[in-house]
Amino acid sequence: SAVLELEEVTKVYGERSDRSPVPALRGVSFAVRAGELVAIVGPSGSGKSTLLHVMGTLERPSSGVVRIDGVDAAGLDDRALSQLRALRIGFVFQRFFLSEHATVRENVADGLLYAGVPAVERRRRAEEALDRVGLADRAGSTPPQLSGGQRQRVAIARALVGRPAVVLADEPTGNLDSATGAAIMALLHELHADGATILVITHDPALAERLPRRIRMLDGRVAADSGDPRAPRDP
Ligand code: ADP
Ligand code: ADP
Repeated sequence: SAVLELEEVTKVYGERSDRSPVPALRGVSFAVRAGELVAIVGPSGSGKSTLLHVMGTLERPSSGVVRIDGVDAAGLDDRALSQLRALRIGFVFQRFFLSEHATVRENVADGLLYAGVPAVERRRRAEEALDRVGLADRAGSTPPQLSGGQRQRVAIARALVGRPAVVLADEPTGNLDSATGAAIMALLHELHADGATILVITHDPALAERLPRRIRMLDGRVAADSGDPRAPRDP
């Protein structure tokens, strides 16, 4: 069953402005099944971030269809989309977007603020998610007391705490040294082994090479998809 489906998705920035419009996606189609771990690779400017934002319903496509868990996002208003995101999608970004003054536990529990979960249950599930990323013992710390790799683990725990259908990660290793980045990718592999569905943008070919499926973007299109037998193969 497909968790995410894109059909002929296009995204043009600046359609309603005076400057010339920028086509960022030019007809992207693929499906991601439950339990897949997929790398999105490609040069800077090829549309990777735009793709992730459109899949995550942070931005609406200019045309084409985006389905999350079988639901066509085009049929939902902004309020319903926020709800869909809160319940079905976990985000991880290059910059961690953690609150510096809140504890690690509170940062993770905040991932459930819009999911209608009572405070005691939020706290319990935050601790469970921290345990999954190996940070159970740092629940009472604040982000400035942690290393970069640990902060990214907190962000991953926050993405997981709502038990989303899919986790979308935009360069999660981009701010980390290579050893720490490799450890974060190893964590994504573990979560995948546990059944999580994860799409991850990465610049690092060595990290991408180890992922079971790679979608290569070029100039707003899918240039190769190692997981789709109908698409061209990666060289
Ligand atoms: P990547 O993540 O692969 O670097 P992006 O999705 O960020 O690629 O960018 C794809 C294209 O869309 C680029 O030409 C970029 O300049 C343009 N673009 C991205 N975001 C915006 C925006 N908010 N407004 C206008 N153009 C944008
Ligand atoms: P960049 O790729 O520019 O270094 P990030 O990957 O950290 O930046 O974030 C990509 C974009 O996603 C940001 O420009 C921001 O507008 C948006 N973003 C980050 N966090 C959130 C969030 N929690 N909710 C919605 N949008 C976000």
